[in-house]
Amino acid sequence: MIKRDSAKMDDLERKKALRFQFEGIVDKLGYKFSSDDEIVNDLLDAEVQLEKRFGSPYCPCQGRTNKRSDDMLIVCPCIPFHRKHYDAMKRCWCGLYVHKDVVDPSKLIQIPMSEMRM
Ligand code: SF4
Repeated sequence: MIKRDSAKMDDLERKKALRFQFEGIVDKLGYKFSSDDEIVNDLLDAEVQLEKRFGSPYCPCQGRTNKRSDDMLIVCPCIPFHRKHYDAMKRCWCGLYVHKDVVDPSKLIQIPMSEMRM
């Protein structure tokens, strides 16, 4: 019981640290965390677990290939590697981050790159 509580605390601390670290990075890219707290919490929880399991906070919404050069393109925040696509949607693929000028993230949808008219 004590061990489980301590693991939960570690996860919470890691989640806070990731949030702090990511905030500074995405800010410089013109993005911010979504105002949808539930989505943000769920995605960061998932990233903490992915990091524990695979060594990096991989994207919860994109599958890993186990080829390092490919998988590095989906370590959060992956915005620099998919900039054109995410800028056109005004959000990242998962919706964890949105453009700074976005007021209502629920209005933004995922559009596969193959369907984008850019
Ligand atoms: S799509 Fe969003 S949440 Fe997923 S890794 Fe990229 S920036 Fe992070």
